Amino acid sequence: MTSPVTFYRGRFAPSPTGPLHFGSLVAAVGSFLEARTQGGEWLLRMEDVDAPRCSTMAADSILRTLEAFGFAWDGAVVWQGRRSAAYVAALERIKAAGYIFPCACTRKELADSQLAPDGAAIYPGTCRHGLSPGRVARAWRLRVNAVQIGFEDAIQGPIVSDLASEVGDFVLLRADGLFAYQLAVVVDDAEAGITHVVRGADLLASTPRQIFLQQVMGLPAPAYAHLPVAVNAAGEKLSKQTLAPALDDAHPAPALVAALAFLGQSPPPELAWADAATVWQWALANWRLGRVPRLRALPYNPPDRTRDTAS
Ligand code: GLU
Repeated sequence: MTSPVTFYRGRFAPSPTGPLHFGSLVAAVGSFLEARTQGGEWLLRMEDVDAPRCSTMAADSILRTLEAFGFAWDGAVVWQGRRSAAYVAALERIKAAGYIFPCACTRKELADSQLAPDGAAIYPGTCRHGLSPGRVARAWRLRVNAVQIGFEDAIQGPIVSDLASEVGDFVLLRADGLFAYQLAVVVDDAEAGITHVVRGADLLASTPRQIFLQQVMGLPAPAYAHLPVAVNAAGEKLSKQTLAPALDDAHPAPALVAALAFLGQSPPPELAWADAATVWQWALANWRLGRVPRLRALPYNPPDRTRDTAS
């Protein structure tokens, strides 16, 4: 018998690099419904730590879309851009414990390295025992021990990662002076008291890094569930880069129903003609995490596009 969840606090953490599209809606819908059906809270965090890629226009548009789609979050929106002091403090703590080292390697110098599952270079350890004479620190990296990081993903099943060989020492403070996503997300989830992370499986490769960092910092690890990622006909993740269309704030129901169908919930198709409140009523009464396909990626065919089957 599984013990009942006594407290649940989830979150949705979009990066405001563009308007919300179907791919991000899937993460919002999955994290929201799982939190609410567990009687939990659902927090919203704007992950604008990578300032050059983010804009306030995109953040405003995301907030407008979430409201138009009927999402209600608990508490105030957290903005990573305003949390530098927390990241500085965390970095100082890790530094004092001797877990980070300065790194002088340029992107070009690492270009021949093998790639981690998410495309980042596996760090060959060049600067881990000190900078060579004359080299200047650019970034700060976390020293990764030869440890296996394992966790049970509520959707994807057991995940094990040999972090040292699969990722290597990874960056916490970037060469451009910005805090790395891995640091910000761990600090923010811990400070907010997040107990459950439900997000896209494109972030599955980051999770062992985040768990290792939690261990280094003595922070509790939340439970994880990684949803399948929506991919286009070419197998590419829907994103701003692959020109995924923005959601239509004026017609939330069809997109919400499509997201529920994508997540294996089998909503009645006629729900697409109802209003958003009716869709949410159905979704809250019928959501089951166990019905979400246990896949890392799933093709998504926009319902409003006429597919050419002639050739
Ligand atoms: N900001 C990340 C993204 O939009 C999500 C981070 C997370 O959920 O941990 O892909």
